[in-house]
Amino acid sequence: MATIFTRIIQGDIPSYKIAETDTHFAFLDINPIAEGHTLVVPKEETDYLFDLSDENLSETIILSKKIAHAIDKALNPLRTGVIVEGLEVPHAHIHLVPIYREDQNVS
Ligand code: 5GP
Repeated sequence: MATIFTRIIQGDIPSYKIAETDTHFAFLDINPIAEGHTLVVPKEETDYLFDLSDENLSETIILSKKIAHAIDKALNPLRTGVIVEGLEVPHAHIHLVPIYREDQNVS
């Protein structure tokens, strides 16, 4: 059975798309830790990030870097932090979470 992220990638479940390549899809987290919290997901269904091929893992990291820079430019956080997948969704992914100053209003 397809993972929830595959169903998002296929458009069966709506999401706010941030970026898409032949091999990856990035979208806003439905339950964000902070404004702009983005998930970067390889289209290949692999449970664990480090089960990806070196090539696919490199693409995941490089796309994450590009998107983090775009978030920094658009929302001006102190920085965009990286959290590697937890256990909720068994499909490899990276969380990009902007970290703001306490007094920063991003909306
Ligand atoms: P993890 O597996 O890293 O613990 O967390 C998975 C993340 O996916 C969570 O932050 C959760 O909010 C997000 N998520 C789960 N289901 C959906 C969904 O249907 N749409 C979106 N946009 N995010 C989701």
